[in-house]
Amino acid sequence: MKTKYDVIVIGGGASGMMASIFSARNGHDTLVLDHNEKLGKKLYITGKGKCNITNNSSIENHLSNIITNSKFMYSALNTFSPQDTMQFFEDNGLSLRTERGNRVFPTSDKSSDVIKTLEKAMQRSGVIVSLNNEIERVDKRGDVFYILCTNKIEYTCSSLIVATGGVSYSGTGASSLGYEIARKFSHNVIEPKSALCPIVVKEDVSELNGLALRNVNMKIEKDGKVLTNEQGELLFTYTSLTGPLPLTASSRINKIDLSGAKIIIDFKPALTEQKLEEKFIREFKDYAKKDFKNYLHTLLPESMIDYFMKKLNIKNKKVADLTKQERNKLISTLKRFDFSIESLDNINISIVTSGGVDIKEINNKTCESKLVDNLYFVGEVLDVDALTGGFNLQIAWSTGYVAGNSIKG
Ligand SMILES: Cc1cc2nc3c(=O)[nH]c(=O)nc-3n(C[C@H](O)[C@H](O)[C@H](O)COP(=O)(O)OP(=O)(O)OC[C@H]3O[C@@H](n4cnc5c(N)ncnc54)[C@H](O)[C@@H]3O)c2cc1C
Repeated sequence: MKTKYDVIVIGGGASGMMASIFSARNGHDTLVLDHNEKLGKKLYITGKGKCNITNNSSIENHLSNIITNSKFMYSALNTFSPQDTMQFFEDNGLSLRTERGNRVFPTSDKSSDVIKTLEKAMQRSGVIVSLNNEIERVDKRGDVFYILCTNKIEYTCSSLIVATGGVSYSGTGASSLGYEIARKFSHNVIEPKSALCPIVVKEDVSELNGLALRNVNMKIEKDGKVLTNEQGELLFTYTSLTGPLPLTASSRINKIDLSGAKIIIDFKPALTEQKLEEKFIREFKDYAKKDFKNYLHTLLPESMIDYFMKKLNIKNKKVADLTKQERNKLISTLKRFDFSIESLDNINISIVTSGGVDIKEINNKTCESKLVDNLYFVGEVLDVDALTGGFNLQIAWSTGYVAGNSIKG
């Protein structure tokens, strides 16, 4: 196998595969190096195995779902838009469908079909792939990059695209190599942090493990300030809160000190405290002879009742025997059920990594380094991250496309 290429892409994930296709289509002799035994291992597990490849919505909507450095993505998204992504996959034979929230999936619901489509497009464009390659060292001498692998093969190229992704989900091949390459070439790397991850709480929530709450409101507050406030669904694990609301919130709060921060759940967001009071005054008459604990079944999921009763600290009694003070306590507990935040969960189980190569040193039109000629960074290795809905993969496609199309010479 030859070792001299015009372009080498390190990382055969979403962004690397896309970059390689367009580099090769532009006539550059292109090699993809990956240490995994196959391409796209993270892609395989995306969207619960269905791969939510993009969001069929406006660029403005994508920008508003990018939490970190959305402005950086303006140019790349305008050059290769979500609709261009869909067109690309359809042109390459992958049938797509759009679901709730404009989330785009392969019609087959198989992420493996997304990978196969990219692999075929790579083959057709003439991209060479070398797998099981652990990289030992990356250097640049004169205009040439040297990539030494642990098997002692040294590859050379005139342009290098770093597409090594973030550090989450190490089982998919994620590593910090991209950050090490960036630092080696004097780039600043913003400290990687968990994003789109569960939020660990101080309270023992093990008895709630598996419980899902729908149509609740979840706020995060610290020092009397509301940091996030959204309505939707959440789920309990043994130690944390997860699901759509906590995942989104985690990306919004990962850059602040969380000591003293609280999660506040409103179980009845559609009813004001006054409406709840009116409802209870009415219903406490109707249910006067019922046990209070049984009455709670009309308000909360079964598996929440014991935990709620402990927090409420009211002994079980007949509904008729509840005092006004206890009724008020019920209202305030339903509207502001709080948990103290311990931390965000481990970065390894974060859906994305926040942080990475500082975008201030990257040309947003080409993804080329402003410090080193012909060095490019694409995808999640950059300090850009978004919410769920196909927005993170769109970052990978768009940055991969612009780098692949910006190779000089
Ligand atoms: C469980 C889960 C579900 C997700 N679902 C979605 C979704 O449905 N929609 C969405 O938009 N986003 C989703 N994401 C996020 C999305 O997968 C990533 O943002 C995207 O894959 C990033 O693409 P990338 O090319 O930058 O990195 P990756 O796809 O992670 O690719 C990086 C590549 O670099 C290689 N590499 C790393 N280190 C080295 C090394 N030292 N030597 C050689 N090669 C190396 C890796 O093996 C890998 O092949 C999900 C993430 C997870 C973890």
